[in-house]
This record gives sequence, structure tokens and C-alpha cells, in this order.
Amino acid sequence: MGNNAVEMLLKLQGVDYQLIELERSKDYLPDMITTLEAGIRQAESELAGSRDQLEATRLDNKRLELRVREKSSELERLQKQMLVIKTNKEYDALAREIEHATAEISASEEGILQALESIETLEKQIGERQTRLDEVKSTNGVQLESIRGEINSVGDKIRIKEDERHNIIVRLDEAMVATYERVRKGKGGGAVVFVRNKACTGCHKTLPPQLIQEIRRGERIITCDSCGRILFWAEEG
Ligand SMILES: [Zn+2]
Repeated sequence: MGNNAVEMLLKLQGVDYQLIELERSKDYLPDMITTLEAGIRQAESELAGSRDQLEATRLDNKRLELRVREKSSELERLQKQMLVIKTNKEYDALAREIEHATAEISASEEGILQALESIETLEKQIGERQTRLDEVKSTNGVQLESIRGEINSVGDKIRIKEDERHNIIVRLDEAMVATYERVRKGKGGGAVVFVRNKACTGCHKTLPPQLIQEIRRGERIITCDSCGRILFWAEEG
């Protein structure tokens, strides 16, 4: 196993990592789209909620204003009657009606004040939520566009990487590729690891000095006794 072969194995491993990532992206990119779209819908529904509330409060306010007008003319009528009453009984009844109308006007006016306060708060909130929606739409929109582009190109990228993979494999020794594939399957990815501090970086087992010398020479495939990964020499171990 010459250094060139080690380099090729590492290159193969790099391509395989990229292929795994590309396959994974087929799942997580659509998930990201769902999340980003949900963010926009959330901001839209918050804004719509404030608008509905404003609409309802304005109707409430109109209803109260109408009530004040009705009760005020009723009060006026009662006060005119007061001028022409003849008995104490009539007086008592009228006085109670006037009191009642006055209380209703006062309660409605209090309601109007609250409604106006709410309208002011809601108008401010709508402004803020509109700004927030615009921001989310713009930020998420940019991301959505880029992710959609990525999704569209995943297939092409995978084909390119598979070609690359094929070109590497045909230049490698068959037995070496078989070892690589076997270890990769068993270890789920990191089949080729380097030696550091006189140990395998895959499982951290210390390697005998003689084996390290052999790895440094790089004349044949050397696998770790403990984890089975292919070992290579990269720097001062
Ligand atoms: Zn190991």
C-alpha cells in the first residue's frame, strides 16, 4: 500500500462522507422548508389575530357609542317628563328610571374609553406584527430559495460524487476496496483512521511500535487489531 493508495483511500472516504451527507439532506432539507414556511404562517396568523381583535373592538366601540346616544335621548325625554309629574309615586318611578339611564350612560362611556385604549394598543401591535412578518418573510424567503435550489441539485451532486467514487475505486486494489467496504459497513463511516500518540484514533488502542513502523512504510493495508479500521500515518504519532 503506497502513499498514493492511502491518499486515494482517504479521498474515497471523503467522497463517501459527502454522499452520506447528500443522502441525509434529502430528509433534512424538506424538514427545513417545513419549519421556515411554518415560521411565516405563524407570523401571518399573529397579525391576522390582532386585526380580528381590532375589528371586534371597533365594532364594540360603535355599539357602545350607539348605546350612549340612545340612552342620552331617553334621559332627555325622562327629564322633560319630570317637569310635568303630578304624584309622588310618579316622581319616584321617574327618578329611578333617570338614575338607571344615567348609570347605563356612564358604564357605556367607561366601556368606550377602554375600547379606545385597546384600539390604540392593537394598532401599535399590528404595526409591530406587520414589521415582524415582513422580516420573517424576507429572511425565511432567502433561505427557502437557497434550500429549494439545493434540493433541486441534490440528484446531480450525488451523480457527480458517485462518478468520483467509481474513478477512485477502479484505481485501487480490489482487496483494499473490499477491506475498506467491510470496515465501513461495520463501523458506519470512519473506515480509514490515522495513528496519533502511538494509538488508533478509531478505538484509542495503543499500537505496538513494530506495527507503527509498518504503517509508516505504508507497504500494505494494516488494520487495527482491536477495531478493524484501516490505519494510516499522517504526522508525528
Ligand atoms: Zn482501532
